[in-house]
Amino acid sequence: MGIIVQKFGGSSVADNTKLFNVCKHIIREYNSKKQVVVVVSAQGKTTDQLIREALEIDKNPSQREIDMLISTGEQVTISKLAICLNKLGYQAISLTGWQVPIKTNDVANNADIEHININRILNELEQNKIVIVAGFQGINKYNDITTLGRGGSDTTAVGLAAALKAERCDIYTDVDGVYNRDPRTNKNAYKFENISYDEMLKLANDGAQVLHYKCIELAARFNVPIYVKSSFEKNPIGTFVGK
Ligand code: ADP
Ligand code: ASP
Ligand code: MG
Repeated sequence: MGIIVQKFGGSSVADNTKLFNVCKHIIREYNSKKQVVVVVSAQGKTTDQLIREALEIDKNPSQREIDMLISTGEQVTISKLAICLNKLGYQAISLTGWQVPIKTNDVANNADIEHININRILNELEQNKIVIVAGFQGINKYNDITTLGRGGSDTTAVGLAAALKAERCDIYTDVDGVYNRDPRTNKNAYKFENISYDEMLKLANDGAQVLHYKCIELAARFNVPIYVKSSFEKNPIGTFVGK
């Protein structure tokens, strides 16, 4: 049975209605006999809010403590999503970065993934569970929680897809694919059906946050096929990002 990794960004999981909407995409893949690993971001603007709250206390907070704080956003989403799937009659289990574990270097706030141990995930998949992993976070050699840089849940998803040799990595977001410019601010922007890793990397370096630049580098290195899709469409096709 093939593995599919699906990632849902903050706006796609912002409230309970949206969490149940996301369940439809997960269940569609699960019912088509795929093993499904889901990666989620913090709900809505939670990460921004947590950073604001820390800065209200101290303008120059410890970066270790910032990682400890902002990683909590994703933990809220994984548990809520598992509760939603359970309520719909599906077995799901949520895992934080350290429970997987996703090992990173020790660069606070902008860590890189060094290794992912896939045993726990494979074990849960074999028990027919949907596995939900917290995006954006890992653990360093000192057992401290790290985060991968803003927008880093995309990188968690592609990292897992590479480690699990997944068939593809679907990045669900609030636009229906990758455009030549930000479609929210450019009415004449056009959508790509396909785009190469190199072209995508250029767009990301020019500020297109639709995909985290680190995830594109990882995808190119391990040849992970990415589909950028809208979580708000029923059967989205989106943009293929690949070789
Ligand atoms: P998520 O919360 O799902 O990770 P992001 O906000 O990180 O979503 O990325 C999606 C946003 O990226 C879109 O709402 C869009 O405004 C913006 N964006 C910027 N440049 C582009 C582009 N070239 N193509 C598509 N979206 C883009
Ligand atoms: N929640 C994190 C952020 O807002 C990671 C992500 O959304 O990808 O940057
Ligand atoms: Mg993002």
